[in-house]
Amino acid sequence: MGCKAMLQLRPNCECCGRDLPPEAADARICSYECTFCAECVETVLHNVCPNCAGGFSSRPIRPVTERRPGVCLAKQPASASRIHMKYSRDEASAFARSVQGIDPAKR
Ligand SMILES: [Zn+2]
Ligand SMILES: [Zn+2]
Repeated sequence: MGCKAMLQLRPNCECCGRDLPPEAADARICSYECTFCAECVETVLHNVCPNCAGGFSSRPIRPVTERRPGVCLAKQPASASRIHMKYSRDEASAFARSVQGIDPAKR
């Protein structure tokens, strides 16, 4: 495929642990691909990644149909490695509160 590196589709929310399959509409990622569910991003993390202090965007859904040769979910499958953040919810929340007022361009 044309893209040199591809996004890691991680299998779960790194905060609450819920499954986030490739087709999940509520998966959120930071620029380092740290992956969380929309609920944790809103209610615990306040749109601040506990690992890097960056913000989140919706994770794009990787197409299941091979509409271009060699490019689809089956050819570049989702990651199976479950990851959990190394911070407690309280610590992640406190970190978010300390950073959320800073413009993302200046963090
Ligand atoms: Zn979550
Ligand atoms: Zn991050």
